[in-house]
Amino acid sequence: MRPWNDYKAYLTSRFGEPVYRIGVDAGFSCPNRENRRGGCSFCDGMGALASYQRTSESLFHSGCAFERCLEQAQVESLETQVRRGKEYLVRRFNARLFAMYLQAFTNTYAPLPRLREIYDKCLELDDFTMFIVSTRPDCIDAPIAELLGEYGQRLETWVELGLQSGSDRILGLMNRGHGTEAFEKACKALDGQGLNLSCHVVLGYPTESRDEMLETARLVNQSPVKAVKIHNLNVCSGTSLYDQYMQGEISVASRKRHIMTCALFLQRLRKDIVIERLMCETPSQRLAAPRNFGDKAAFLRELEAYMNGNGMAQGDLCLM
Ligand code: SF4
Repeated sequence: MRPWNDYKAYLTSRFGEPVYRIGVDAGFSCPNRENRRGGCSFCDGMGALASYQRTSESLFHSGCAFERCLEQAQVESLETQVRRGKEYLVRRFNARLFAMYLQAFTNTYAPLPRLREIYDKCLELDDFTMFIVSTRPDCIDAPIAELLGEYGQRLETWVELGLQSGSDRILGLMNRGHGTEAFEKACKALDGQGLNLSCHVVLGYPTESRDEMLETARLVNQSPVKAVKIHNLNVCSGTSLYDQYMQGEISVASRKRHIMTCALFLQRLRKDIVIERLMCETPSQRLAAPRNFGDKAAFLRELEAYMNGNGMAQGDLCLM
């Protein structure tokens, strides 16, 4: 058994078999990329879309203006994206259960009627087992939380919040455009609506101290979050981090360092929190660093061996 609360095991115990996410781009934007706010330091403007949906990836190259790339890359219809995603998941994993995953950009960033229209349209496209909406903490308010709660009554609905760090200093360096208070407010609004909450965190941001990282664990533990996605820092071309990296101002964690960091973080996390992800998987043509990090399966094997070999398990040093 893995020394962390494994997502696939959670899905299998909950639904009898794994549920596969069909990640889509529903055409949303992001407030942090508008009004000259510049976007997050690590964001390359591709909206974190699944690899099988990145059909315009060839438009992307180092030095390209991202907004220009995005203009050229038409958002395809939801029907097309769902069909393509489903075909891929059936072919690759023999998948039978699916989650509608609103993945790209900020999926609560629109007026309420428009949100309802898009969510309804998405859920009409297949018989989904789960509905997952990814967004920023500062794009959740009481009416949006209530709307999401309506979907929570129809099927298992998750809201994924981009927390990224429990340190306001690190959030400032990331140019996130929100602080930890926004995360706490979003959690408060969403809690009690019959929803499941998860959050994304980045471990090992340049200059992040051990205490700041542990503060992230503490903030997550004190929230109603039920699942976490952990990312190592990936530097993509076209980001402000890329400029810093090319000037030699920052470095990123090696695979060995990230294994140690994950183990330390997992030990401090509540035992019941499900771990949905432990590393980033940026396509190599967009990734400047780290190179030669290795694949996910090898990383998970090494992390498991490291934690088991050192008698470490999720939650055994839980911070509250
Ligand atoms: S919130 Fe997401 S889409 Fe917006 S700038 Fe940050 S990483 Fe990019």
